[in-house]
Amino acid sequence: MSIEISATQAKKQQYNFNKLQKRIRRSVGEAIQHYQMIEDGDKVMVCLSGGKDSYTLLDVLRYFQRIAPIRFELVAVNLDQKQPGFPEHILPEYLTAEGVDFRIIEEDTYSIVKEKVPAGKTTCSLCSRLRRGILYRVASELGATKIALGHHRDDLLETLMLNMFYGGKMKSMPPKLVSDNGKHVVIRPLVYCREKDIAKYSEHMQFPIIPCNLCGSQENLQRQTIKAMLQQWDRQFPGRIESMFSALRDVVPSHLADPELFDFKTIQATGESNPDGDQAFDHSTPTEFLNYRDEDDEDEADGNATGKHGVIRVLNLS
Ligand code: SF4
Repeated sequence: MSIEISATQAKKQQYNFNKLQKRIRRSVGEAIQHYQMIEDGDKVMVCLSGGKDSYTLLDVLRYFQRIAPIRFELVAVNLDQKQPGFPEHILPEYLTAEGVDFRIIEEDTYSIVKEKVPAGKTTCSLCSRLRRGILYRVASELGATKIALGHHRDDLLETLMLNMFYGGKMKSMPPKLVSDNGKHVVIRPLVYCREKDIAKYSEHMQFPIIPCNLCGSQENLQRQTIKAMLQQWDRQFPGRIESMFSALRDVVPSHLADPELFDFKTIQATGESNPDGDQAFDHSTPTEFLNYRDEDDEDEADGNATGKHGVIRVLNLS
């Protein structure tokens, strides 16, 4: 009897995982297509920290490499920053076993940061600047045309809120951008993926996670607070996070207040009515996400990946 129950549970778990995997792959496929992130002939350098996000990114990109109608190369790059206790063997062992082309770059940025930043001050800004510079240099050495990072939907929303709360800017992390030195295109194929999905996926896949607190620096407290707030909203108001992310993709400059983005000075009455235009006196009540249901609750039919949003169709990028 107990064997029967375990078999049923295992089947259910596998079913749920298939749904999750399909959702993540579909989200990545759509992001790649919407922002034209990967093109035929690209060499994509995947930055691998050893955390759940970058493992998932590499895994999903490898899937697309197998099934996409275009050809592109992948090379995983890890920067060993010489933090005390960094388990050097984990990534080479994993990548070798998986047959992934990879480079481990050893640069002691840890000592530089410790030396330059006064005790008690946050080290992340200098550390990230150094890391960025090294990764750009490596991308040039490898002839990489794209640099892929593992930021996801929740990172984008946290950054948006951080910039609004503390930076006075309506600004997040772009899905695709040109690097500061102007030489590289950086892509974020996980931008449509939910962090909780990535966490579940990573757990199921049993990626050999490297802890992210080796440097001893406290994760940015403001970011932690924003993250907790967003998670609370997600539990309390289903659909709010989806609506917020949707807003990032649907900006209306004429209904904000940035004179650089919209020419308010020269607008004139046209004398013609526009049913989709001004709603100056309306208190709009958007309804699109009011009855939102988490996809986890939906009885999504299984099938191959070539359906309406199928990855094969989505990745026809040429
Ligand atoms: S948490 Fe540590 S490794 Fe990460 S950016 Fe900050 S100082 Fe660098």
